[in-house]
Amino acid sequence: MTRTPVVAGNWKMNPPTREEAIALAHAVAAAADEVQSMTTVICPPTAWLDAVSRSLAGRHVAVGAQTMHYEDRGAFTGETSPLMLAGLATFVILGHSERRQYEGETDEAVGRKVASAVAHRLRPIAAIGERAEERRAGATASVIDRQLRAAIGHLDRLAGSGLVIAYEPVWAIGTGDAASAEDAQDVCAQIRGILRETDAKAADEIPIQYGGSVTAENAAELFAQPDIDGALVGGASLKPDDFSAILRAAAGA
Ligand code: PEP
Repeated sequence: MTRTPVVAGNWKMNPPTREEAIALAHAVAAAADEVQSMTTVICPPTAWLDAVSRSLAGRHVAVGAQTMHYEDRGAFTGETSPLMLAGLATFVILGHSERRQYEGETDEAVGRKVASAVAHRLRPIAAIGERAEERRAGATASVIDRQLRAAIGHLDRLAGSGLVIAYEPVWAIGTGDAASAEDAQDVCAQIRGILRETDAKAADEIPIQYGGSVTAENAAELFAQPDIDGALVGGASLKPDDFSAILRAAAGA
């Protein structure tokens, strides 16, 4: 089964100015134009989505949002609706551990968001992963099972959903302590197995990313694993040379 790798850069709350965001987007586009056998996504802060997506017209880089609400409109101060992302983003990261930790995002909310994104023809990148204490307690598999089933729980069907799953062990995010390729593969294989229970064909087509301290150095080994189809990249996505090297590693996998 050949799946197109998806490498997505999560810029988080960076950079601080529109000019820097456009410059970073152009640097990524220059690298992405060289590796068209894969899908490159950048996820700027909401404030820069319009400027970045305009600046990338005609380039081989898709734009993603970092979160959204599941409702189309209403009294949700500070939120962004899926309707507002139309024309600005084709992907949206949902359930990132920082949203779960700091904004109280629940498994149930993530499931609703995933279904809402699909209904609005946005491709969800649903992020799941265990915390350090859960890993120490041997609970990784049960956490993944619970979070994944919740994330897809409101979808009518997997086929044609455009879903991407990002396995992101929380202890690996921003720490420099990436999961070993073998451990990441084991969890990604578990994820594909759960998807397969719902729809075997769709499960073979859904990209599963690894995220957590992916670098130019460790990317190739991660991407060589049979169930790892790209990466969700935080820190290294702000460094064009490093992100370019990760894109090349994915294209060569
Ligand atoms: C992330 O924030 O999703 C992430 C994986 O960050 P980093 O690559 O910096 O670990």
